[in-house]
Order: sequence, then structure tokens, then C-alpha cells
Amino acid sequence: MSGNTTRSAAIEAITNRRPLSVEAPQPLSDIWACDVFNSAKMEQYLSKSAFKAMKNTLQTGAPLDAATADIVAAAMKDWALSKGVKFFSHIFYPMTNATAEKHDGFIIADADGHAITEFTGSLLIKGEPDGSSFPNGSLRMTNAARGYTAWDPTSPAYIMHTSNGSTLMIPSVFMSWTGEALDKKIPLLRSNTAMNNAAQKVLSLMGETDIATLNSSCGAEQEYFLIDQNFANQRPDILLAGRTLFGAPPAKGQQFDDHYFGAIPERVQIFMQDFEDQLYKLGIPAKTHHNEVAPGQFEIAPYFEAANVAADHQQLLMTVMKNTAKKHGLHALLHEKPFAGLNGSGKHVNWSVGNATQGNLLDPGNTPEENLKFLLFCGAVIRGVHLHGPLLRAVIASAANDHRLGANEAPPAILSVYLGDQLEKVFKDIQSGNLMPSVSGGEMDLGLSQILNFNRDPGDRNRTSPFAFTGNRFEFRAVGSSQSVSGPLVAMNTMLADSLNWIAGKLEAALATGLDQPTAVVSVLKELMEKHGKVIFGGDGYSAEWHTKAVEENGLRNIPTTADALPAFLEDSVKTLFKSTGVLSPAELESRYEVYSEQYILAIEVEAKLVVDMATTSIYPAAMSYLSELSDAIDSAASIGVAMDASLAKTLAEHTNAMTTAVTALSLALEEDHFLSAETQMKYCANDLRSLMDDVRACADALEGIVPDASWPFPKYSEMLFIK
Ligand code: ADP
Ligand code: MG
Repeated sequence: MSGNTTRSAAIEAITNRRPLSVEAPQPLSDIWACDVFNSAKMEQYLSKSAFKAMKNTLQTGAPLDAATADIVAAAMKDWALSKGVKFFSHIFYPMTNATAEKHDGFIIADADGHAITEFTGSLLIKGEPDGSSFPNGSLRMTNAARGYTAWDPTSPAYIMHTSNGSTLMIPSVFMSWTGEALDKKIPLLRSNTAMNNAAQKVLSLMGETDIATLNSSCGAEQEYFLIDQNFANQRPDILLAGRTLFGAPPAKGQQFDDHYFGAIPERVQIFMQDFEDQLYKLGIPAKTHHNEVAPGQFEIAPYFEAANVAADHQQLLMTVMKNTAKKHGLHALLHEKPFAGLNGSGKHVNWSVGNATQGNLLDPGNTPEENLKFLLFCGAVIRGVHLHGPLLRAVIASAANDHRLGANEAPPAILSVYLGDQLEKVFKDIQSGNLMPSVSGGEMDLGLSQILNFNRDPGDRNRTSPFAFTGNRFEFRAVGSSQSVSGPLVAMNTMLADSLNWIAGKLEAALATGLDQPTAVVSVLKELMEKHGKVIFGGDGYSAEWHTKAVEENGLRNIPTTADALPAFLEDSVKTLFKSTGVLSPAELESRYEVYSEQYILAIEVEAKLVVDMATTSIYPAAMSYLSELSDAIDSAASIGVAMDASLAKTLAEHTNAMTTAVTALSLALEEDHFLSAETQMKYCANDLRSLMDDVRACADALEGIVPDASWPFPKYSEMLFIK
């Protein structure tokens, strides 16, 4: 079929599409977490003592003994079998942004040939996938051993259904035989521990005696695009790279600002409700959905949960989204910039830390004492972002997110902190000595009233900041839509742990000199602000002035591409940060650098090859056949004595030639394979390959404006964005 016929067939299919017959809505109470082996199910299926042991593990992260693991395994099996499950799988989270799983049957045959089922504690606890094909950044080559998975009891097991079978999924860590982390879960669990240890110190110095285990929380807002599957199937770039590598801007884009919070198209609404029902069954608290800025762009935000569970749920949410979209004839695009010229997609990671006894420590609270703790934790974040901005940039670096960061609608690639006017003033006053607490008659006299009174939900959200305080949490807005939230959470927890350790040291020393608690806290914060206050920025993060000032006056780093960002993993300060907190060893960090840089290079190479392929095998033929049509017509006209205006044919020929030249240059560039290091190769991808790809695209997009619509080989932006 020609471009014309496949495209019109797609449009016809969409026009005649019958809506998917969906089940009648089910009450939330019937479906909520029905496929999850959560606390409530455990209580039902476990003995009292086993449930108590399990609960302790959930609350404190303490390891589970073997006997209890056996009991839990048996209960899990009984529950799963009762729901028709025959297989189980340890699901894990390799260093790619994907998930991985290997399925095993519960079944074994006994000597008499009867099928019986078996699931012991040791089977539950440990799996041995042949992990050799997962990226390990040289970690496993050194000992030639296989990786293995281990059950994470703090993230609930759940059941995934297909139309004719169901599998029990067991969230797991993935490590080498020597215990090195090969995944994204281990560092997240370790970073929580490090944060807890450090926070305990600070809280006891603040006079707290009853301090429950602290945990970090995460609520992620997920943006995505939906297009009809018929269009996606005709775009190799969307299928293989997740974004359009070609496509002229449509006459109507997002300039009318009419999509954000607009009425949700019915087909999409039906998809969303189905999607959310799947999430509810899996115990994922989907809470908000709405249209986003660009046409065809939407957002879903589950309610926040413990970071480790939220991270697993976030991966699951992306899987369920793609599968459910397919069911509805839609294709979900999680790429950070699927369409040039339109808003990209992010995943805002809302993050806070707290526990059962002190509550959320990033919530200002209602008393002077609570406020002091809040200021210390908030100060710790400020210090962390200042010291480790490049790390925060590195953990969100990817070929895809590079298209978004620093573009005019997305957070800049400079990491600064937004606090809101009032809180910023509090910290600035502390820095300048204008806010001094005094104690009279044993009562704290509040110079601190200023803090108490500040408005907790600053209405004027700064949407241009990559890292913003939003009343009772920080929102890391620069995270990309397709990314795992683990990397950002690990970086935030770890920098917080490090800063809280620093604060504990300073506070202890200040208190030892006999200062009262408020004065000691303010003196520590004053020093902190003098060193790190320059990371605070309340203005327009998208503006050119800030980009200059941030670098020249505030000494912050502008890190435009992944090639510039990833080497942060090798910096001494980052190695020390992770080693001192016990979150990642230098070898583990280096392996991450290796894996992420390899992924970046592969991503760009795949795109570059696709550009060559699509330009050569689809766009060039379309252009040439129109050129020959035009030339023939001009010749025929000449033969009857009419001289036709040949300028369009000439322009067409010029763009076609220019495209051929650009394709040749890109093909040649792709052959280059002598690189001194991963870093030089990344730079080559960022600076050379990417700009050569842009050259090809510019010519191809110009051709799209000349070649007859009927013979253009790929669905156009206007079709993908507006036909549903
Ligand atoms: P907005 O679009 O205004 O940023 P949303 O309501 O879309 O806000 O999303 C806010 C996200 O922040 C939700 O996932 C919410 O559950 C989460 N959140 C709220 N409070 C906290 C908290 N204390 N810690 C972590 N996440 C939180
Ligand atoms: Mg938000």
C-alpha cells in the first residue's frame, strides 16, 4: 500500500471503530486491592505470631526469620491458588528503566505422577534468573557468577491476569552473588535506611525519645500521550524509539491552550476508567486524572505511598497503562518528548520523609518545636541540592529527557530550590541574623512566630523550578515521564541522609557549648545558609537571565545533556556521598555509570539508524516520485508550447538533495567507532549524531510541506494528535 492508502485505511478504521464493550462499573470496595496479598490478607491467612513478625518487618524493615518465611509462602500460595494462579514470578527492577520477570509453576509431579503444588519459604525468598543478559556494568563479569533475586517483603505480592492465566508476582531485589546491587530497588532500600539513621540522630538531639522508623514517601504525577494504535503501527519511529523522528508542525498545535483541564474525550475517559480499575485491583491508589497542556496529552497521579512501594507501583502503573491502552486500540507514549514543538512529558516526584511518631518532617507543623524540626529537615534538603545538584541532574539524565530539560516549557537543566516567598524569607532572615530566637523565663519567645504563621500551601506554585517546596513536601519536577522514580528517590534520600548527619554533628557541638535548643538550631541553619543559600531561587527558572546568573553569580552548574550529566557518578564527592552513607559502593556506582552511558549511546544510535532508514526507504521515494510526476508534467506542457513555473519542482529537488547529503553524512558518522572512553562517545552522540539527525529532519519536514498529502508515507502530526 502507498502512504496514502495505509494512512486513509487507518483513519477509516478509527472512524468506524466501535467502542470497546466494557464491564459495568464495579464498586470500589469490591475491587480495591483484590489482587494484592496485603496486610489485610496476611492477617486473614497467617497465624497470629507469623502476622506479628511480618508486621514488624513491614514497619521496621527488620529481616524475616526462615520459619516465618515458610508460613508466609504457604499462605501466599493458598491465596494465589484460590484465585486460579498457577505460576509465580520474582519481578525485579534492573538498571534499565524496565522491569524483568521469570515465571515458574507452583506445580511439581510426585513419584506416582500426581501433580502437586509446592512453594516454600526458600522458593519465596530466593530466585535465580539467568541474569546474564541484564546490564550489570561489569559487576558480574569479575566473578562470572549469576545474579539472583531476593523477595522484598516490604512491597506486597500481587496477581497479574491475562485472559487465560494468572501469575503471582513477587517484588524482589536483584543482586550479584557477592551481594552487589544490580537493580534499582537495593539502593532505594539502603537509602531509606541511611536517611532513617541520620534522622534518628537529629531527632534525638532535638529531645525526642520515642522515634519510630522513618521512611520516605513518594507521590508521582505521570504525564503521557495517547494516539490511535493504527497510527502508531505506521510509524517505525514511535514503535522503536517511542517518539517521532520526523513530522512537520501542524497548523494547530497547543497554542490555543484549550486542552489543559479541558473535557476529556469519551474514548479516553473510557480508557482511563478501565486503567484505574486495573490499578485499584492492584492496590494502586489512582487519585487524579486530567488533560495536560498538549493535545493528546494526559496525566494520572496516584496518592502518595511509602517510597519503595510507590516505586514498584509506578513501574506497574506504566505497564498497566500500556496494556490497557492497547486493549482500547490506543498507544500510550511515555517518552519525554514524543512530538517536537509540543510540551514534553514529565513525572513530578513528590517526596517527603516522616514516621509514625513525629509525622511528616517536611510539614511545618503547629508548634515552635515542630517548626524547628521542620526547618532542620528543610535546611538539610537545601544543603543537599546545593552540594549534589549535578547528581540530581545525573539521575534524571536520558537521551529522551534531554529533549525536555532546558527547553522552554520544561524545568531548566540547572538544579535550584524553590521555597515560596514566605519560607524563603525565613531562611534569608536566618542567614542575615534577622531571625534570632530568644528564651525568656524558660518559654521560647518567638522571633519564630514568623515561621509559625507562614502559609503552608503557597498558592503561587512556581512551575518553572526543577525542585520546589509545595507546602509539606518537595516536588522534583525535572524527572522524565518514562523514568523509574527510584533513581531520584535514592539521590534525594541519600543527600538528605548526608545533610542530616552534617546537621547532627553541628547541632551536637552547638548544644555542647551550652546554647539553648532554638539558638543552636538557628546557628546551625545560619552556617548552612551561608554555605548553601545560593541554591535557593524563587524567580522564573525558564528565563535566560536566570541561566546566566545561576552560573555566573550563584556558582550553580548548567548541565545540558546526558553526556555532560552522567560523569557526575564518577566524581569524588558523589563516591564519598554514597560510600559514607552505605548506599552504593564505588564499584556499584561505576557500574551504574557504565550501564547508563551505554543505554544513552544505544538510544541515540537506534534513533540515528531509524532516521537513515525512514528517510531513505520511505521519504526519499515519495519525494522522487512526486518530482518525476512534476517534471513529466512540465515536459508535457513544454511539448505543447506552455512553459510551466518549475519553482516548486526545483525546491522539491533541492530539499531532496539536501536530505540525501544529510543522510549520507549521518550514515558515515554512524560508522565511527574509535572512542577513547564512554564519555567521549556520549559527547559524540550528543553533539555530532544528534545535530546530523536534526539536519535530516529539517529537510524531511520541509518535504512534508511539498509532497502531496495523499502520498506522504507517515501519519502526520495533525492526524496523530487530533484523530481519536
Ligand atoms: P499538583 O499537580 O498540584 O502538583 P497533584 O495533586 O496532581 O498536585 O499531585 C500531588 C502528588 O503529591 C500526589 O501524588 C499526592 O499524593 C502527592 N503528595 C501529597 N502529599 C505528599 C507527601 N507528604 N509526600 C509525598 N507526596 C505527597
Ligand atoms: Mg505537581
